[in-house]
Amino acid sequence: MSFARTAPKKYQIVETRLQEKLANGTTRCHLCLWRCGLKHGMRGFCQAIVNRHGTLFNLSYGILSAIDVGPIEGKPVKHFLPGTQVMSVGSFGCNFRCGGCHNLEISWGVTALDELARGLSTAAYVTPEDLVAAAQRHDAQGIAFTYSEPAVWLEYVLDVSQVAHDAGLYTVYVSNSFVTEEALTLMAPYVDVLCSDIKSLDDDFYQQICGAARVEQVLGSIAGAQRRGIHVETRTNIIPGRNDDPDMLRAIAQWVHDYLGAESPWHITKFFPAYKLADLPSTPSEIMWRAHDMARAVGLKHVYVYDDKGCDCAQHNLPVEAYLDQDPAKVHELKKCAGSCCDDSGILLKKYEKYDSAGR
Ligand code: SF4
Ligand code: SF4
Repeated sequence: MSFARTAPKKYQIVETRLQEKLANGTTRCHLCLWRCGLKHGMRGFCQAIVNRHGTLFNLSYGILSAIDVGPIEGKPVKHFLPGTQVMSVGSFGCNFRCGGCHNLEISWGVTALDELARGLSTAAYVTPEDLVAAAQRHDAQGIAFTYSEPAVWLEYVLDVSQVAHDAGLYTVYVSNSFVTEEALTLMAPYVDVLCSDIKSLDDDFYQQICGAARVEQVLGSIAGAQRRGIHVETRTNIIPGRNDDPDMLRAIAQWVHDYLGAESPWHITKFFPAYKLADLPSTPSEIMWRAHDMARAVGLKHVYVYDDKGCDCAQHNLPVEAYLDQDPAKVHELKKCAGSCCDDSGILLKKYEKYDSAGR
């Protein structure tokens, strides 16, 4: 499957690929399992998708919040081209609201997305071709979409991935896997690796961080990715008192074994206190090693414990422009959408309404 590239040369909102106009005047977004129904002027739960006159657009196409280059093992991915370097990139926007999220300004990016919507952003805009060229200049063999949730950035992920494949680079998608079957089908030819969270096997846990999420949906997406030929590795960030029940951790390992296979890698990472969970301790090593031993006992062959690593957050990175062969002043010039759907001389949305559950 191939598709026409839509990459504009300058920042512009881009029509999303998975949307459906409903008879009641709303348009439904099928990028992730929220499946938000939006009216003109409304933005989805993730804040990155906006309805303009009945058509859904991605606000953050090509907008980068962070770049870094490092070993693929750091994602963590251990069983796909080990020893290679990957350029990690992220934008703004997530479809979850985890209480222990570490990089809210980037991952949720609510302020940054507001600035984009109002034509006040100075964030970097990078075309897929320029990003792949930057990866090659920095001797990266792959590109990883991480830091924010790539499901809400799919149009850019697909365009970059196609250019990356044409240039011989692989692609990695680091996700919470709250994605639709339709999105998986679109990305399968272009995404080589999925590194997915399994945060818990408890529906209440997922409901607290995303009212719409159920364990079965997340697991279904992970298994669906592997069925479509994507190389899958999973990780669980163990949070003391929240998802450290030994029976549940054993059940996660059992699920990985039964549905992804005994050879499928499972990564166990450490929780570091942050945001609403700042009062919790970090994860004791014994808990992580106990989970490791249980996973080995159920038959998983590749279980990795990280005593020094949590989520794949953007921290201590060089400024984005350090990786781009461009004048920093130009990289951070004011971004006004080059489109004309607003009839508003460059300001994308004078007025917008945030997600309203009544409109779903
Ligand atoms: S949260 Fe965002 S990506 Fe998910 S369905 Fe809603 S608008 Fe689409
Ligand atoms: S931890 Fe990950 S999935 Fe959760 S809100 Fe942060 S970026 Fe989103």
